[in-house]
Amino acid sequence: MRRRDLLKGLSVLPVSGGVTGQVFAANTAMAAPKRDLFKELGLRTFINAAGVYTSMTASLMPQEVLDAINTGAEEYVMLDDVQDKVGEKIAAICHSEAAMVTAGCWSALVLGMAGVLTGMDNKKVMQLPFLEGTGMKSEVIVQKTHANGYHLALTNAGVKIIVVETREEVEKAINEKTALMWFLNREAPEGKIQHQEWLYIAKKHNLPTMIDIAADVPPVENLWKYNDMGFDLVCISGGKAMRGPQSAGILMGKKDLIAAARLSAPPRSGIGRGQKVNKEEILGMYVALEKYVKHDHAREWKMWEQKIALIDNAIKGIAGVKTEIVLPPVANHTPSLSISWDDKKVKLTRDALGEKLRKGNPSIEVIAWETENNIRLTVFMLKPGQEKIVAQRIKEELTQASA
Ligand SMILES: *Cc1c(COP(=O)(O)O)cnc(C)c1O
Repeated sequence: MRRRDLLKGLSVLPVSGGVTGQVFAANTAMAAPKRDLFKELGLRTFINAAGVYTSMTASLMPQEVLDAINTGAEEYVMLDDVQDKVGEKIAAICHSEAAMVTAGCWSALVLGMAGVLTGMDNKKVMQLPFLEGTGMKSEVIVQKTHANGYHLALTNAGVKIIVVETREEVEKAINEKTALMWFLNREAPEGKIQHQEWLYIAKKHNLPTMIDIAADVPPVENLWKYNDMGFDLVCISGGKAMRGPQSAGILMGKKDLIAAARLSAPPRSGIGRGQKVNKEEILGMYVALEKYVKHDHAREWKMWEQKIALIDNAIKGIAGVKTEIVLPPVANHTPSLSISWDDKKVKLTRDALGEKLRKGNPSIEVIAWETENNIRLTVFMLKPGQEKIVAQRIKEELTQASA
């Protein structure tokens, strides 16, 4: 008995000789080969030359983020403690008073809205989304061009959207029921009222403001620009260009509003109870943000331009094909390539080309753009070297169709 115990002890000690060697060999033999779940489940993987799209699972997390997630999975901590600590770090990086990790930008919109309505009143938290007779405000002012779908997140908290176009209309719309003035950064160029004026009107009437900047890094400075500008709440996606978990996002802004927003989020019950972010994702979000801020963005931008140039050079000589390097002004602000063709010379529709690229090997996704003969692509979600495959495959298909 004793002897066996001794041997058992020996086998796990890092001693030299045959015993350790045997243990090592046994462990190696037991290690299962890594499962290829994509293959096992018959899932198509593809080269993402489209960009950051929710339907395409947005972005790939870097190793540091995966490490944070794995480390997070090894211990218990209190959920509120992780939010407190990570929130402080995020706030410091982004120049806000406070911050919390949310289940994506959409959840940041919902929780921020809830916080604006309830303040620190727990009774009100349990009354959402039914505002009538509660004493809570119930209207949110939104510019017409900004009301294109994402504003519906706010209605989860029970508010009514009041659509306006001009400064005069905002002034007329403001009343004792007005809870918030909301701004969608992506649509700023389309709206009649710009950031500063929006903030000016809100401050004049002592109304809180919220801005959605979901897909608006790069540039990295946007992470603090709107906090510096004076928006009370700023909402951003974590899994787009920042490459955090796709199901994470950030709500940042005034301390009292973030504290209030947390009353509607897990671990508490309330309208945000289903928008849980686990500790692993909270840690992953933090590391992704930190890494993104430290990143050499100028160098990466040059690399994107080189990749776009490589693809451009491969296809622009094909008869009837026109290319243009474009830069979306706000969201997905990254060098992109627009490819269009004369359908008399290249007998291919946009959708047919998309389908050929999708069904090719390897499969590639691009974006169907404005006209029947126009696709668009980006390179910021490509893995190193994939630009060559993208160039080659598009060249192949366009050449083949231009017989
Ligand atoms: C992507 C996006 C959202 C939603 O963000 P999630 O992180 O997917 O929840 C909200 N608003 C805008 C403008 C977006 O582009």
